[in-house]
Amino acid sequence: MEVIHLSVECFPIAKVGGLADVVGALPKYQRALGIDAKVVMPWFDCPFVKEQQFEVVTTGSFFQGSDELQYEIHKEESDVLGFPLFLIKIPGKLDREEVYCYPDEAEQWIAFQHAFLHWIQNHGIYPSIIHCHDHHVGLIAFLLQHGVDFRNLADIRTIFTVHNGQYQGWMNWSKGILLPSFDTWKWGLLDWDGVINPLAAAIKCSDAYTTVSDGYLNELFIDANGLQALFNAESGKAYGIVNGIDTAYWNPSSDQLIERNYNRVTVNRGKEENKQALCKQFNLPLAFPLISFIGRFAKEKGADLLFDICVKLFSVRQNVSVFILGSGDREIQNGLIELQLQFEGKINLFFGYDEKLAHQVYAASDMLLMPSRVEPCGLNQLYALKYGTIPIVRGIGGLRDTVVDVLEEGYGFVFEKLNADEAVKTIERSLDMYTDNKIWKGIRKKAMQLDFSWKRSAQKYVELYNQLLK
Ligand code: ADP
Repeated sequence: MEVIHLSVECFPIAKVGGLADVVGALPKYQRALGIDAKVVMPWFDCPFVKEQQFEVVTTGSFFQGSDELQYEIHKEESDVLGFPLFLIKIPGKLDREEVYCYPDEAEQWIAFQHAFLHWIQNHGIYPSIIHCHDHHVGLIAFLLQHGVDFRNLADIRTIFTVHNGQYQGWMNWSKGILLPSFDTWKWGLLDWDGVINPLAAAIKCSDAYTTVSDGYLNELFIDANGLQALFNAESGKAYGIVNGIDTAYWNPSSDQLIERNYNRVTVNRGKEENKQALCKQFNLPLAFPLISFIGRFAKEKGADLLFDICVKLFSVRQNVSVFILGSGDREIQNGLIELQLQFEGKINLFFGYDEKLAHQVYAASDMLLMPSRVEPCGLNQLYALKYGTIPIVRGIGGLRDTVVDVLEEGYGFVFEKLNADEAVKTIERSLDMYTDNKIWKGIRKKAMQLDFSWKRSAQKYVELYNQLLK
């Protein structure tokens, strides 16, 4: 069975968030199950592309409106990823440094999807399944079924995975002219509320759609940023499959990026040394429990609550320290700088994206805070658990599915209401337990014993592929 994963992020080539982690790991685990899984993504001007060997396997061209676009298909040669990787380069469109935030994003993703279909149509590539990830590739299923030039591909099965339903790729109908020719009377399949909505088109046209946790699927039925009625109407082909983690890369016993490796047996000593290194680097007290936050400074992640949470926390507890790694919203960032000035020596920050530092923070911290408003799956809490760092999370989406509170014989701390008071009460609950060394060691051990590796979920996707191919 040949499966092509289509995505605009894939670790380690281009990563902004969890989407990259999933697309960079799932194909590897599927290949171990005998599936011929590959990844196709846009070409980026990034370190991975500069450092690895690529071969241009073919070139072609197509029209986007009145512009003729040339594309090149680059195949990665050294097989360092554990799965075949193809990059689509389109000079002027898909040749940038960053993944997102360009004003012509709609044109970029339309070009990516058009080039992909043009390539496979013209080279007799006929995968069993095309697995599309998020709205950037949301037009594929529609174009396979109704694209005038792609009639030969119409029977290829498609799966669409919703990693984040908040972003839908909305574009004005004036962009319709940039799409490959399609059966115009089918325009309604592209439309939602008077604009082209690639996420809606994907939910309507794909053979199945999945979300990255069961809990998130149920939430989308109630609130999906305007698409809830559609998610409900298409619920017959919906599946919740929770993400896994790549334990070959996220593993404290072999992680090359952390100060000291450790496992379940050596966790106390190992964590201590990692904490020592981080606290020294960021001028934090070693003696206090360390609570961290890693992620985008976005409302979705509850990052706007961090300021209030810290102020309230430091007013009730003196002996605790906080580390925050992230980037995003300027206002949130400014608030955090103010906080750092106010509580110098107790809180420190690193603004930006730093993969190595993220590993070090998971290894060094005692607790990881995730006060999310929306969390389709959340990978941070899964990495934290693997590193013996106890998650304190809001019970939402994938966080509810993966973190069980210690009050229910679990290994984490969960709060329901989204406000700073609830978060602080729950943090205090964790700090109380932390003071009892024996209890804390028990929680840590439980956390590190859990298996959130990709094995089970990769198998679930394969079962779904088989079902669609019947
Ligand atoms: P998202 O909604 O952002 O995709 P996930 O929890 O699914 O959230 O995945 C987040 C991923 O991004 C994790 O691998 C996390 O470690 C990483 N990450 C987030 N922010 C940063 C940062 N500033 N530096 C390094 N890694 C980060």
